[in-house]
Amino acid sequence: MNFEESQERAMVRSTAAEVAAEYGPDYWHEKEEANEFAEGFWDELAAAGFHGLLVPAEHGGAGMGMGMMGLAMETLCAEGCGMAGTWYLVVTGGMAAVGIEAYGTPDQKDRYLPDIADGDRHFSIGITEPEAGTNTLNVATRAERDGDEYVLNGNKAWITFSDRADDMILVTRTTPREQVDRGTDGITLFIVDMDNPGIEVSPIPKHGINYSRSCEVFIDDVRVPAASILGEEGDGWWALVEMLNPERIGFAAAATGIGKLAAHTAIEYANEREVFDAPIGTHQAVSFPITKAYARMEAAALMREKAAWLYDRGEDCAYETNVAKATAVEAGIEAVKQSMQAFGGWGYAREYHLERWWREINLTRLAPVTQQMAYNHIAQQLGFPRSY
Ligand SMILES: Cc1cc2nc3c(=O)[nH]c(=O)nc-3n(C[C@H](O)[C@H](O)[C@H](O)COP(=O)(O)OP(=O)(O)OC[C@H]3O[C@@H](n4cnc5c(N)ncnc54)[C@H](O)[C@@H]3O)c2cc1C
Repeated sequence: MNFEESQERAMVRSTAAEVAAEYGPDYWHEKEEANEFAEGFWDELAAAGFHGLLVPAEHGGAGMGMGMMGLAMETLCAEGCGMAGTWYLVVTGGMAAVGIEAYGTPDQKDRYLPDIADGDRHFSIGITEPEAGTNTLNVATRAERDGDEYVLNGNKAWITFSDRADDMILVTRTTPREQVDRGTDGITLFIVDMDNPGIEVSPIPKHGINYSRSCEVFIDDVRVPAASILGEEGDGWWALVEMLNPERIGFAAAATGIGKLAAHTAIEYANEREVFDAPIGTHQAVSFPITKAYARMEAAALMREKAAWLYDRGEDCAYETNVAKATAVEAGIEAVKQSMQAFGGWGYAREYHLERWWREINLTRLAPVTQQMAYNHIAQQLGFPRSY
């Protein structure tokens, strides 16, 4: 085990910190209040090379791994961006990049990866459906072959960035679940151009992260060429799994990143705010809850590094990824909650950011995998009977 910081890691960390210093809490307060996509931040991530961290050098990226991406995300979040540090990277530069790199045809790689690395192409990922949330195998969006094309029909829910994405990686069934032996069979992924009259999106008003939209997507007789399949027909489950672990690692980074941002903000405040003739930080009732949560975040972040290390080596990382995600989320939520407490009533005021980070971090217990489902996986790995 070697914890020495490499030059590459130091560079990623310092670049992320520089970007976050420019796009700090006040910027995100404005974007959140205005319900506005952060174009400037998106372009800055491109200039810093972050959209292309996972894209191989031959396709215009940096060819680094999930370890570096997790570090970039956590640093962006912790140094001032909050959830945006993961949110603006995880779908396109994270999931789409790894899915296309691992399962794309040479044509697909040439077409999409350089644009992803440059920040010129924006993806959304369409998995969830109104009737198939946590149980992904129940997706019912249909893809039926018609000559050299497929005809797509179905509804998706909560698809982030689908209002502005150029493309969507769409999870469909080419064979309905009732007709396959194993639930994982019959799933097919398509890369769908969103500029299609058969696609309609409708944003879902939501609790936080309003500098982006998550939408219902209605897909009505959308014709796509057979060449737009990502991976093999009927075997798309494995391409999907390839993308889900980076997403969970990204959310683990978000949880500790937002938690650290809130904690550092609260520590500064606790050194200044005097109530009974002493800074409130002198009371262990204020300092210990934040300190304990911080200690747990440090441990969770190490587990995230292990999960990413396994992923980057092409090894099974599902257990470590779920442990990292579940523990990072618990510790991060506790850190934000206790940091808000340290702010007293001012924690409730929009201008102090804590309440926004609270709304942001609460998503991490619901998505991309709920805490219960992460623990279901972990329990099963420990030897408990499968419960889902
Ligand atoms: C802001 C936001 C953005 C999102 N972005 C995207 C996106 O870009 N693309 C996309 O595809 N999806 C996206 N999602 C969807 C998200 O991944 C799902 O909401 C999530 O997976 C849970 O699905 P569900 O909401 O249908 O919950 P359900 O599956 O209905 O579950 C409801 C509750 O029951 C619990 N539960 C169910 N079964 C079990 C069991 N066996 N054991 C224990 N507990 C169980 C769940 O943990 C959960 O608490 C997003 C969601 C949100 C809120």
